[in-house]
Amino acid sequence: MNRTSDPQIGFVSLGCPKALVDSEQILTRLRAEGYGIVPSYEAADLVVVNTCGFIDAAVAESLDAIGEALAANGKVIVTGCLGAKGNTVRDLHPSVLAVTGPHACEEVLTAVHTHLPRPHDPFLDLLPPQGIKLTPRHYAYLKISEGCNHRCTFCIIPQLRGDLVSRPIGEVLQEAETLVRSGVRELLVISQDTSAYGVDVRYRTGFWNGRPLKTHLSTLAAALGELGVWVRLHYVYPYPHVDDLIPLMAEGKLVPYLDVPLQHASPRVLKAMKRPANADDALARIHRWRAICPDLTLRSTFIVGFPGETDADFAQLLEFLAAAELDRVGCFTYSPVEGAPANALADPVPEAVKQERQAQLMALQAAISAKRLQGKIGRALTVLVDGVDEAGAAIARSTADAPEIDGVVYVENGGKLPVGEFAEVQIHAADEHDLYAETVGSRSPKRKPRRKSGVALK
Ligand code: SF4
Repeated sequence: MNRTSDPQIGFVSLGCPKALVDSEQILTRLRAEGYGIVPSYEAADLVVVNTCGFIDAAVAESLDAIGEALAANGKVIVTGCLGAKGNTVRDLHPSVLAVTGPHACEEVLTAVHTHLPRPHDPFLDLLPPQGIKLTPRHYAYLKISEGCNHRCTFCIIPQLRGDLVSRPIGEVLQEAETLVRSGVRELLVISQDTSAYGVDVRYRTGFWNGRPLKTHLSTLAAALGELGVWVRLHYVYPYPHVDDLIPLMAEGKLVPYLDVPLQHASPRVLKAMKRPANADDALARIHRWRAICPDLTLRSTFIVGFPGETDADFAQLLEFLAAAELDRVGCFTYSPVEGAPANALADPVPEAVKQERQAQLMALQAAISAKRLQGKIGRALTVLVDGVDEAGAAIARSTADAPEIDGVVYVENGGKLPVGEFAEVQIHAADEHDLYAETVGSRSPKRKPRRKSGVALK
């Protein structure tokens, strides 16, 4: 039973049985959240109109219904097939609060929450709007999809999590907005295969604050770039459309950082791994990206000792690394995972050889990383302060450093910098992993770089 104090929704459902099911799902969710459903415009605080756009008569009926709801109530959210037809609704009824396409329960709920806040729930409302986060308050992971359509032979993730399922773009952006409002300064976009975002839903149009947006990585990245915080992309395969992201990085809309898991550079090994990439293409692409955005930081991971990997394959991997000059590299020795097709491959590489190859790769990459970090000495950089160490230095990160996996910037005189906020620093030293800096304008004494040890190269 509705309590009179609960916010009340009026609902008009038009169209075919598929639209009817969408209406049922939306109404079920609204009721579960404590909204009341009322049969008249006058008794409603807001009206949702689920439209049909199949034939001209249906379009006319839907537009009339929207007009009627606007005249009688004034607060109207439009969903359904007509919403997917470009600007048809907004052209005739510019005062509607939001427009979504069909099968867009989450987006409708998001629009309702924006214009008619969810009723108080004494249990749920003990939680902050962004939910419970295990990360520090100033950064958060933003998962945009689940599962994977690839079938890399060393991996069982598709068996465990299924094929790719992209989250609706409006829902992802709403979550990102809520996080930013709660104090998050850096969003870390993650998934199994970030570049594939939207493939499963054929890049269908979703809605964010009434704006139609394609479910596509480029569209999502551009919209996230409007939120005014650092947006960092992880697990991006070097597909052609990733090229579109680089100008956004050069313009400062996205952090100039790409985490591209390449795994190997020998075409033979990549084929045995069934990887969705080609090393020559990847190298050419990296050069092109850097020409557009010279500040681009590239991170990747590699597997050495995959079954059948020969000395020549490994030499090809080292050659690739020398040519690509990646900034951060993680290197793992191959180990079988129960259920992975690679377990059945011939010519396993002896453990000692795997270890030797890992050490060789790490030594090469250490020199590359050190050289690239040396190139930053003397530069002024914006950093995000993560904390303060026992010696009173701020531990911060530049755009080149993802939390937990990359190096850091020690700001030696930064003990008083506010944690979770940005600061301007000047770099004065570097080692293989980290940078050393002081706040801009400071004259504090410079300390020598300290050495750190670690397994995976950064
Ligand atoms: S390694 Fe990555 S791309 Fe390959 S199947 Fe596993 S999750 Fe998918």
